Amino acid sequence: MKTMEEIISLCKRRGFIFQSADIYGGLQGVYDYGPLGIELKNNLKAAWWKDMVYKRNDIEGLDSSIITHREVLRKSGHEENFVDFITENNESPKKFNAMFKTNFGPTSTGEEYAYLRPETAQGIFTNLQNVLNCTNRKLPFGIAQIGKAFRNEITTKRFIFRTREFEQMEIEYFYSDEQLNHEEIHKEWVDRRFEWWKEQGLRVCRLIKAEANPDELAHYSFKTTDIMYEFPFGFGEIEGIASRGDFDIKNHNPSASGISVVEPSAGVDRGVLALLCDAYNKEKLENGSERVILKLKYELAPIKIAVIPLVKNDENIVSMTKVIFDELTSLGIGRIRYEDTGNIGKAYRRNDEIGTPFCITVDHQSIQDGSVTVRERDSMEQIRLSTYGNMYDRKFVNHIMQHFSI
Ligand code: ATP
Repeated sequence: MKTMEEIISLCKRRGFIFQSADIYGGLQGVYDYGPLGIELKNNLKAAWWKDMVYKRNDIEGLDSSIITHREVLRKSGHEENFVDFITENNESPKKFNAMFKTNFGPTSTGEEYAYLRPETAQGIFTNLQNVLNCTNRKLPFGIAQIGKAFRNEITTKRFIFRTREFEQMEIEYFYSDEQLNHEEIHKEWVDRRFEWWKEQGLRVCRLIKAEANPDELAHYSFKTTDIMYEFPFGFGEIEGIASRGDFDIKNHNPSASGISVVEPSAGVDRGVLALLCDAYNKEKLENGSERVILKLKYELAPIKIAVIPLVKNDENIVSMTKVIFDELTSLGIGRIRYEDTGNIGKAYRRNDEIGTPFCITVDHQSIQDGSVTVRERDSMEQIRLSTYGNMYDRKFVNHIMQHFSI
């Protein structure tokens, strides 16, 4: 069994995620992504953008501002309804708005203020007409956005599961009521998004779809289905698919009619956490020792290949390793790591633990015949590979991928 403590410890030790401002005791519910964490997070966002935008012909992209005009969030109902309840000193529960207010402009009287957006969605609704004007889109079509959102959550716990600053990957998919049936398009998005999380590597036995009860619905939604993942602490939502009807469109443009919206809204940070939890595995080795491996798929792995000199004090081996490292780095396929810390066993363990799919080791024989050892992370299978003309190019990488059926 894996525990959250193990995941959190790995994240800190290896540089995935740090508590924000930890040198000052930490800012509660706010986190920083380290060198490996940013790679994993970027890879996840890139996979989403590729599949949801590039591979479809009915979605446009957008990057709207985080600082949001007060009127937008008043009309959207957030000023009134985006509330939680707090109980202090056993008194009756008090309403508490979860949006972050910020002073706006040089006056600090507090009268001029704006909000940090609590969801990326409103920037999409307020730009709908702009996007329609500059593209020749017709309904049905969607607008996709990845960006930060802020919620002054009353309690933050479970590491990056519930934070005050987080990132969302959202699509608002617009359709006319004559074109599509609410139930059908809702189900279509739920199924598509469920499949997508599976494709990222989350085990299907740890994923469920759960329809929210009417009393759990956000103020803008008439039907929401959550995609939930079984974390070490239990099931938690990683994405919500909400049918928002014409609620937002009508709020911002009362004369608009007949346009409805379905919104798949995924949390980047919760996705990262689910992937880390799913990929984290411990295995007993034949010699009785244990290894930790992060079984991330190649596209998501922070480091694609580690290049390792068998010994550090042989000039020929070191210079050949550097050549391979430089050539692989220049391919732009992702981060390549030059690994010369510790012995070869330790180098493999370290790379298993951070999810590096392949290690390439240069040894004495490599100097003789140009061949190298390629080791695959999950199977630990090792092959001896020669490159024709010592070219460590895309063909070489493709060859490795093909051999291990990646
Ligand atoms: P919850 O019920 O867990 O508070 P929610 O239903 O309020 O979540 P949505 O408003 O549907 O969440 O937001 C869409 C997605 O944004 C969620 O599925 C989640 O992945 C992410 N998200 C929402 N709030 C947070 C948070 N405080 N920290 C991290 N991610 C969040």
